[in-house]
Amino acid sequence: MILARLVPPRRRAAVVGAVAAALMLVTACTQGPAPVTGGETPLSPLDGEPRTTTTATALTTLLVTPREPAVPVVGSSDQVIVTYELGLQNTTPLTLTPTEVQVLAPSGAVVQTLDQAATAAALAQPAARGGVHQLTNAQSATLYVTLRFPTRSVVPEHLDNRVTVSGEGLPGGTATTGPVAVPVSSLVAPVLGPPLEPGSRYIAADSCCDSPRHRRALLPIENRVWLAQRFAVDWEQLDSNNRTVAGDDAANPADYTIYGKKVISAADGVVVHVMTGLPDERPGALPSDTSPAKADGNSVIVNIGMGLYALYAHMQDGSITVREGQRITRGQQLGLVGNSGNTSAPHLHFHVMDGPSPMASEGVPYVIDFFTTTGQITSTEAFDRLENTTQPLPVRPLPTDGRHSDQMPLDRDLVTFP
Ligand SMILES: [Zn+2]
Repeated sequence: MILARLVPPRRRAAVVGAVAAALMLVTACTQGPAPVTGGETPLSPLDGEPRTTTTATALTTLLVTPREPAVPVVGSSDQVIVTYELGLQNTTPLTLTPTEVQVLAPSGAVVQTLDQAATAAALAQPAARGGVHQLTNAQSATLYVTLRFPTRSVVPEHLDNRVTVSGEGLPGGTATTGPVAVPVSSLVAPVLGPPLEPGSRYIAADSCCDSPRHRRALLPIENRVWLAQRFAVDWEQLDSNNRTVAGDDAANPADYTIYGKKVISAADGVVVHVMTGLPDERPGALPSDTSPAKADGNSVIVNIGMGLYALYAHMQDGSITVREGQRITRGQQLGLVGNSGNTSAPHLHFHVMDGPSPMASEGVPYVIDFFTTTGQITSTEAFDRLENTTQPLPVRPLPTDGRHSDQMPLDRDLVTFP
C-alpha cells in the first residue's frame, strides 16, 4: 500500500510496542512501575501508539478516518489535482446532517470549504453514485474530496479536515470534529505513453475526478476496502460525426468507433497476468452473470516497475498477443479493443495500481507524456444517455485544448494520441 511506504506502518509500531511492553514487564518485575513524569506523551504497551494525558471532555459524534495519502497529479486542466477519501461514521443514535467540510493547510489557512449541498454531493455509500444527505444511527459513508492547486509547490504537506454536523438532540444542535490530517504523498506520478494506437477523438470517459463510476468504486475484498479504479479511464472514441457508434447497430460491438483499435503498452514492463477466452458482450447493458474474476474480460496486467502495475481490460477474445512472464516495451501491441467482461459498450479500461490485483489494490495517478485535446463531452449525463446510440454526442471546446505534456487526461476529454 502507498500508505505503508510513506508513513511508519502500524505493524511496525505494534512490533515496537511489543518490545516496549516486554521491556516494561521486565522493568515491572524488577523495579516496579516506571513513574509518570509528565510532559511526555506515553506510548501504549498494547499497540505502541501515543496516548494523550488529557481528560476526555466530550464523546466523538462523528468518526473521520482518512484512507490513503493523496498523490498529486497534474491534469489536462493545467491544475495540480489532489484527491482523497475520508470515512465518516455516525457514532450516535441520532440522525446527523453533515453541513460543512473545511479543508485547512497546516498553517490554518482554509484551502476549501464544502457547503451542505457540496458535502452531500461528495458523500456516498458503497456502489452508490448519488449524494448522501444524512447519516442515520451508526451509519457510515465515504467523503470524496478533490482539491485543485495552481502548482505542486503550493500543495501543503498534509491537509486537515474538519466536518460539521447538525442533528436534533445534539448538545447545541451542531458538532465539529477536530482536524483529521490526510498526508500528501511525495510519490511522483509515473510518466507513461498512450495505451492506444495513434488516433484522434478518443474519449477519456469516467476519468478523474468528478464522475463517480471509477472514482467511487470502493470494493470490499478479503476483509478490506479498496479503490483500485481511483484514476481509471474508459477509453471510447467519437467518429467524425461525434458518434461513439459509427455503424447503424448500437447492439453490435463492431459498429462502435473504438472497436478493434490496437491496445498498446503504455510502458516497458513484464506481463504478470493474461486472461483470455471470454466473448464480446452485447452492448447496451452490463451482463447479468459477471463474476469478479471475469469482470475485466480479456485483459493484461503489466508490472511497470516502482511497485506499480497497469491494467488493460475488455479486449477481444483471441486478440491478445503477449503471454505471462513476457518482457514488453512501450508501444508494443497487447491486443484489440473489445467488449468482454463487465462492460456495456466497447472500450479500453486502463488504470495504474499499487499491486497486481485489478481490484484488491489502490489506484495511483499517472501522466501521459504527450497528447492533444480537442474539446470535451459536455456532461456525464449526456455521455451515459447517448453512448449506446447512433446519435452524436454534444462536444464543447475547452480553454486548455491543445498540446499537453506530462499530464493526466481528465474526465470526458477528447484526446489525440500521436
Ligand atoms: Zn472502467
